[in-house]
Amino acid sequence: MPSTIPEIPELLAPAGSFEKLVTAIHYGADAVYLAGQKYGLRAKAGNFDKPGLHKAVAYAHQNHVSVYVTVNIIAHNDDFSGLAEYLDYLGSVGVDGLIISDPGILRVAQRTVPSLSLHLSTQANVTNCDSAQFWFDQGVSRLNLARELSFAEMRSIRDSVSGELEIFVHGALCISYSGRCMLSHYMTGRDANQGNCAHPCRYRYALIEEKRPGHYFPVSEDERGTYIFNSKDLCLLKRLPELVAAGFDSLKIEGRMKSLFYVGGVVRAYRAALDFLRALSPASWQHPETIQLPDHLLTEISRIGTRDYTENFFTEMPGSSEMLYKSSRFDQPYEPVAVIREMTALPYVELRNVLHRGELIEYMTRGSDITTVTVAEIIGQNGRSIERGNPGNNVYLSFDQDCQNFEPNGMFRRRKNQEG
Ligand code: SF4
Repeated sequence: MPSTIPEIPELLAPAGSFEKLVTAIHYGADAVYLAGQKYGLRAKAGNFDKPGLHKAVAYAHQNHVSVYVTVNIIAHNDDFSGLAEYLDYLGSVGVDGLIISDPGILRVAQRTVPSLSLHLSTQANVTNCDSAQFWFDQGVSRLNLARELSFAEMRSIRDSVSGELEIFVHGALCISYSGRCMLSHYMTGRDANQGNCAHPCRYRYALIEEKRPGHYFPVSEDERGTYIFNSKDLCLLKRLPELVAAGFDSLKIEGRMKSLFYVGGVVRAYRAALDFLRALSPASWQHPETIQLPDHLLTEISRIGTRDYTENFFTEMPGSSEMLYKSSRFDQPYEPVAVIREMTALPYVELRNVLHRGELIEYMTRGSDITTVTVAEIIGQNGRSIERGNPGNNVYLSFDQDCQNFEPNGMFRRRKNQEG
C-alpha cells in the first residue's frame, strides 16, 4: 500500500441540464457527463440541443471542467443514420470524450473523430481483466467497470491494465447488469437500452392467482405490496480511501434524472471527502482501509439519500438486505428551499419551495460546512417585504446574520417538518 499521497481521482458528476451542470461545477465536480439529443441513455433527462451543448462546453471549460458526452445506446442499424455527422459535430464543439458501449458506434467514432477520447460505458459490462485489456486493445482510453464487481475484482483489474479506469461510487442501481434489461420494454414499451426506462423494477408488485382476477395477495410484510426488484442506492463514500489508494482514475456519480439538490448535495459530499483525503499525510496511506472520513460527511450524505444506501458488491454478494421492500422512495429528511442566482448586498434567489419569513434554513457552503440562518425578510421584485414566497418566485432574502460567504449557485435547504 502507498506511503506517499496517492493521486486524487477525478470526480465525475451527472449533468442532466445546464442548471445541474452549473451546480455540479459549483460544488466541485472535475468533470461532467451529459447527453446530446440523440444516442444517450437518458431519453427523459433535459438533454442538450446544439446551442445548449456549446454553452455547456464553454461554461465547463471556463471552469477547467471536462465534458464527456454519452453515445451509449445499444444501437440498431437504423441508429447509424446521421451518427457520423453527430459525432463530427461533437468533435467540433470541443467535448473532451465520448461515452460509448456499442462496438459499431466505437468503429464509427474512430473513423470520424479519431482524436477524441473514447470511454467505455458501464453498459458494456466489463467484469474481468481480459475484457478490460480487450477494450483497451480496441482503442478506448477509459473503461467504466461494471457495478457488479467486488473491490478485490476491481483491484485485480486495476493491477492488470494500464489504461484509465472509472468506478461508479454513488447512485441508483439496476437489478439487471447495468441497464441491460428488457423489463421496461416488455411492460411499458419503453426501451431501457434506448434511454427510455420506465423503472418497472421499482413498481409495487403483488401475487395474483389466475382464477381469482382482481384478488391481489401481498407478497411481503407490507400490505401495500412489495418492490421485489427495488435495489437500494449505491454509496461508496466510506470506501473512498481504499478506492483512491488502489489508483482508480475517475469516480462517477449516477443521476442525470435526479434533482438539482441531489446533484449538488452528492457532489459536495464527495468533493469534501476527496479534499480531506488529499490533505492527509503520506503515513496515513500505509493502511488506507483504516482511514476514517469525518462523521459529518457521512451524516451529510444520509441527508440526500433517495432509497437508502448499499455498498452493493463491494465486499460480498448483495442479498435481500440490499433491497428496499417498503417503498420505492426513501423519505428524505431535508428539502430544497432556494438557489442563489446573484449576490448583491443580499442574495437574490429563486425559490424552490414555499418560504415564510422567520423560518430557519441552511446554506450549503462549498466544502462541508452548513450555515444555519433565520430568514429576517423576503423582499419581492417591487422592493416590498412579503410574508411568504412561492416556488418559482425570484426574491431577495435577508437574514439574522452576515451572509458574505454566500455565493451565486449556492443552495439553501431546510429540515422537513421543523417546528416554528
Ligand atoms: S427496469 Fe430497472 S433494472 Fe431494468 S433497466 Fe430500468 S432501472 Fe434498470
